[in-house]
Amino acid sequence: MPHSTLSQLEQKQDFIRRHIGPGAEETAQMLETVGASSLDDLIEQTVPASIRLPQAMNLGQSQTEAEALAALKVVASQNKINRSYIGMGYYDTHTPNVILRNVLENPGWYTAYTPYQPEIAQGRLQALLNFQQVTLDLTGMDLASASLLDEGTAAAEAMTLARRMSKNKKSNLFFIADDVHPQTINVVETRAEMFGFEIVVGKAEEVAAQDVFGALLQYPGTTGEVRDLTDLIAAVQDKKGIVAVAADLMSLVLLKSPGEMGADVVLGSAQRFGVPMGYGGPHAAFFATRDAYKRSLPGRIIGVSQDSRGKPALRMALQTREQHIRREKANSNICTAQVLLANMASFFAVYHGPEGLKTIANRIHRFADILAAGLITKGFSLRHNQWFDTITVEVADKKAVLETALAAGINLRNDLDGAVGIALDETTTRADIEQLFTVLAGEGHGLDIDKLDQQLVENGSGSIPAELNRTSAILTHEVFNSYHSETEMLRYIKSLENKDLALNHSMISLGSCTMKLNATAEMIPVTWPEFGKLHPFAPLDQAKGYQDLIKELGDWLVEVTGYDNISMQPNSGAQGEYAGLIAIRKYHESRGDAHRNICLIPSSAHGTNPASAQMVDYKVVVVNCDKNGNVDMADLKTKAAEMADHLACIMITYPSTHGVYEETISEICDIVHQHGGQVYLDGANMNAQVGLTSPGLIGSDVSHLNLHKTFCIPHGGGGPGVGPIGVKAHLAPFLPDHNVLGVDASTKGNGAVSSAPWGSASILPISYMYIKMMGGEGLKKATEMAILNANYIAKKLSGHYPVLYKGRNDRVAHECIIDLRPLKESSGVTEMDVAKRLNDYGFHAPTMSFPVAGTLMIEPTESEAKAELDRFIEAMLCIREEIAKVESGEWDALDNPLHNAPHTLADICDSEWNHSYDRQLAAYPVASVAKNKFWPTVNRIDDVYGDRNLICSCPSVDTYRD
Ligand SMILES: *Cc1c(COP(=O)(O)O)cnc(C)c1O
Repeated sequence: MPHSTLSQLEQKQDFIRRHIGPGAEETAQMLETVGASSLDDLIEQTVPASIRLPQAMNLGQSQTEAEALAALKVVASQNKINRSYIGMGYYDTHTPNVILRNVLENPGWYTAYTPYQPEIAQGRLQALLNFQQVTLDLTGMDLASASLLDEGTAAAEAMTLARRMSKNKKSNLFFIADDVHPQTINVVETRAEMFGFEIVVGKAEEVAAQDVFGALLQYPGTTGEVRDLTDLIAAVQDKKGIVAVAADLMSLVLLKSPGEMGADVVLGSAQRFGVPMGYGGPHAAFFATRDAYKRSLPGRIIGVSQDSRGKPALRMALQTREQHIRREKANSNICTAQVLLANMASFFAVYHGPEGLKTIANRIHRFADILAAGLITKGFSLRHNQWFDTITVEVADKKAVLETALAAGINLRNDLDGAVGIALDETTTRADIEQLFTVLAGEGHGLDIDKLDQQLVENGSGSIPAELNRTSAILTHEVFNSYHSETEMLRYIKSLENKDLALNHSMISLGSCTMKLNATAEMIPVTWPEFGKLHPFAPLDQAKGYQDLIKELGDWLVEVTGYDNISMQPNSGAQGEYAGLIAIRKYHESRGDAHRNICLIPSSAHGTNPASAQMVDYKVVVVNCDKNGNVDMADLKTKAAEMADHLACIMITYPSTHGVYEETISEICDIVHQHGGQVYLDGANMNAQVGLTSPGLIGSDVSHLNLHKTFCIPHGGGGPGVGPIGVKAHLAPFLPDHNVLGVDASTKGNGAVSSAPWGSASILPISYMYIKMMGGEGLKKATEMAILNANYIAKKLSGHYPVLYKGRNDRVAHECIIDLRPLKESSGVTEMDVAKRLNDYGFHAPTMSFPVAGTLMIEPTESEAKAELDRFIEAMLCIREEIAKVESGEWDALDNPLHNAPHTLADICDSEWNHSYDRQLAAYPVASVAKNKFWPTVNRIDDVYGDRNLICSCPSVDTYRD
């Protein structure tokens, strides 16, 4: 290449062309198809001029993968990894390498979507069912959900469940024991403030004297104490209160379960089952309760049902209680949860099995006993006589002890009066105990681990009283007793992965969910130990790498959104909504406007919007949409004016959930502002804004960003997510804080919305890498190409299916909705049939029946190449022809490939085939399918059967026998 310049050869923009699917030639062809002369022309036709950014974003040049990784490595190396004994709900753990590489680092697991299409998601549904079973066995409860966001929010959910379920309707009081982890108290207090519940924090034994609707206890306590809670629980229940116990999963391997003590709810974090601390998250919380409260359980539940062949098959149970559907009647606003991390924890239990877990738990406990015995020998006194893994040591000169520890590279818990806390974990070794002896008792302490151990073996320690030893069996199901060699485990993980369709197979065009590329270079830093091994409460000077990364990413997001401040704390989009609404509420309160409590929400809104509004005790008033899917301006004006005295805010999505850039958006903001309200702009559709417009420019006051949509964090099969919020300056003083580590001087004393100060910090490097490798120019290009891809699909399908909503010049934004209702009318073929038939063609269905029932919402994203779009279009067109055969009566209404979809190998290999179409058409309807066939592993699943016969634990082996 004699004529290339050096900078061309350096391939500075290389990542941009890797991230964006279509190349120059395909782009030109697609532009021709949609009838635009250039990308600029298309954007001009599509995005209203009045909201276009006047200048380019100031985000720097794109960097190559190698450059960006090297730069991030420098940032990461600013983190100092001390040995952590801080505890407080976060413990070091060995992620089994077979799980690390084959789950956490495997796109087959991390790029999957939430399992709304269960026929192509049986693998992760099985892993989640295992997670529920682990939860049930260890907590001793009847019913468990498939993960919540973190321990603090799970505790807050327990409080609201107590409010709903308690028969003590007179009381407005919720009691929290003072040995609950402090950050949990902080998160629960925030939630209580919003609902107007009164909170009393006191010694656990004081609960009996209170008249409460519910109480939260911790087991073992935050300073390590193990005690029998049976009598306290009974005392609260006697007065019709509900008792939640926050428990430590590892301790429950050895301890009598809270369920056996009578608890109504048991919750906690599954982090120490193989998930790195990661400076606070993401981790899966578990939540279990009594069968009687099943309709009040927050989050998703995986249940066993059967498919059309009568075989057992898994699905999300009671989906009609999904928060999307219940809107303002929802129990909670949880949507994205922590699926990937729950799966890791469940695999940890599968790999170790009951015996392996007992060995781990017993080893941790023995080390704690040895440490305690040695220190007592040396004259130390311990705060408690009973413990599992955490001891609290009274020290005369705490400062000196902490300094000696720091000098030895050790973090002890430092927030206790006159004492230090030492929490041991799975990674603790003899050398660690030696070192702890030296730090506390000085060089030449003369303590001998083997001698101390021998005494304990002979005499016992009494640190777990006999009545609190677990006697019930755990993990007796076959799945926990089968895969203990690495070969077996590897194959088990792979066998489940094979059942699931993820982005590494084909495009997942989930409208509103932006299933774009999760580039490998973005994912690599997530498992660097510099990011994984940091405790969220480590001293700030050890977390400089994280702090720099959070600051820089925050600055970039400020630039992208046009806001003034960012909070990284919310660990999902819905949590961002909650945090943003809290900021709005506190802002109004600060101005003497506490009576403002009405939240306007257009009828097209995502279900989390009204669900979040009810979490801050706002009244939802629905604003109509017109026939074009836009906000009905007359209705908005009337309602805003009528309610002006009490108007708190509007929650609006932009571009609208109908996939259109509403021309009136700035006017909508003005109207709400004129009547004293604030504008919450749901940022889930940022993929249609970045670089072209911004929420700040449009005129809104606060938004959440779904980093797990627009900014490349993978969906993980239904989580993790990060939902940072951006705010204009006037709302900044009301952003979340944290009571253990302050987040920012300007928000001091505000409540927390998540357990960790910076939420799910360990996946922020993904978004950091994305922005670094794309630069301002690349990000803008991505938005433009997302719009082109969507318009291309809309154009290609439009002669065959009606495209429901269009904006100016008949353009759609980054997604389009196709209407299947007329076809249903003429043929009886449902949107469900089309969705399942797409599986036969190797595709995941688009978003079904949101925001409009009977439709599909397609969002291809910029990452899909033209070839993949064409395959999808081909499938949709073939399906249209199939529908025509049902319409014309050529195929029977009940015996056709749509109605029977998806087709499985069991169908094709069945010696009987009694259909009016042949096997080839069933499974290989077009030639391209044959090259890369994906086989759903179960036939269509019977939803009604599953909900009528609710089974949310692992079925016994017999069920699987034919
Ligand atoms: C995804 C989404 C949300 C909720 O985000 P989660 O991370 O799932 O809580 C809210 N609004 C819209 C429009 C969304 O698409």
